[in-house]
Amino acid sequence: MRQILHIDMDAFYASVEELDDPSLRGLPVVVGGKSKRSVVAAASYAARPFGVRSAMPMGEALRRCPQAIVVPPRMARYAEISARVFAVFHRFTPLVEGLSLDEAFLDVTGSGSLFGDGATIARKIKDMIRGELGLIASAGVASCKFAAKIASDLEKPDGLVVIPEGTLREFLAPLPIERMWGIGPRAAERLRPAGLTTFRDLAETSLDHLETLLGRAGALHVQTLARGVDDRPVVPGREAVSVGAEETFEEDLVDRRAMELRLLDLAGRVAKRLHKAGLEATGVTLKVKYADFSLKSRSTTLPAPIADTTGIFNAAKAMLDRAPKGRVRLLGISAGTLTPADGAATGTLSLFRDETPEKRRRLEEVVLKVGDRFGGLGLTRASLLEGDEPTRGRPTRR
Ligand SMILES: [Mg+2]
Repeated sequence: MRQILHIDMDAFYASVEELDDPSLRGLPVVVGGKSKRSVVAAASYAARPFGVRSAMPMGEALRRCPQAIVVPPRMARYAEISARVFAVFHRFTPLVEGLSLDEAFLDVTGSGSLFGDGATIARKIKDMIRGELGLIASAGVASCKFAAKIASDLEKPDGLVVIPEGTLREFLAPLPIERMWGIGPRAAERLRPAGLTTFRDLAETSLDHLETLLGRAGALHVQTLARGVDDRPVVPGREAVSVGAEETFEEDLVDRRAMELRLLDLAGRVAKRLHKAGLEATGVTLKVKYADFSLKSRSTTLPAPIADTTGIFNAAKAMLDRAPKGRVRLLGISAGTLTPADGAATGTLSLFRDETPEKRRRLEEVVLKVGDRFGGLGLTRASLLEGDEPTRGRPTRR
């Protein structure tokens, strides 16, 4: 029997803000951009009774909770704490699969003789995260991934839910369909009128019936899971940690040059966050949301890790060039596949390292310092746009 843990930090970004500024503790803290059109990245538990949720438009959040304290996100800080949380996970097993900065699956099946069963390990991890980092996590323990994920969510915050061996299907049966991974509000709207409201219904209804509502692949997937069958392995090394910046514009952008300027600004913010966290990235992702709310996202893998504005901007601009034209509501850049920046991590430089990115990184340090001194505005950015920097590190298509 496998022992799978799903660990999820409670109100992670908001909790980090409360940790760093104790005067915020117990107050309705909402992490997100100040613009009315930006969305809530995280809400503290004190904000939730007002109906504030993550991914909600900030304007709506502030209507529901006018006294909310809006804190701008500090991704580099969250990435730093995330790395420490993941370091705790790795004390118990190398089989750690990150889903985001604050959430991971762990397969601790082979860790039993050293550390105890899944429930014992989950409790130890929660205690370490609280004791060493001052943060609260919820945990779910089950024999498969999707059930562990459901379990971790059932008693948030500070939850620990164990689904005992051999009881998975009974445990799941009474749960409402909205708890199913992959069933969103729209699918639920189709299932409920058809009399399918619980996991038991999903498990017992005919596949043909389910197929008319969810399509063939969806029906099979959902029914298999509802019956408590999920053989998917925990895939380590997929630590979905990224450092990003995005902006929802007060007015949609149509002009190409305006988009590039916003992109440059975002690239600068990502570079600054990477720099502060001592990280470099080999993956760059561009996110474009259009006026009709359709979303396009593209990723590239770079030949060498970068952490500088120009490199990130060039990669993002190349992807924007290939994205469909249209009125743009949001642009976002994130940098992933992160590694410690050589100099910052070890104080030495690799002998075999291409010197160009290194030089550029040093240049970047100067640029960032200048930027800070002048309030983050700058002629440096404008001049970078003119292309007076060598354009190395061109992205390759993935
Ligand atoms: Mg979380």
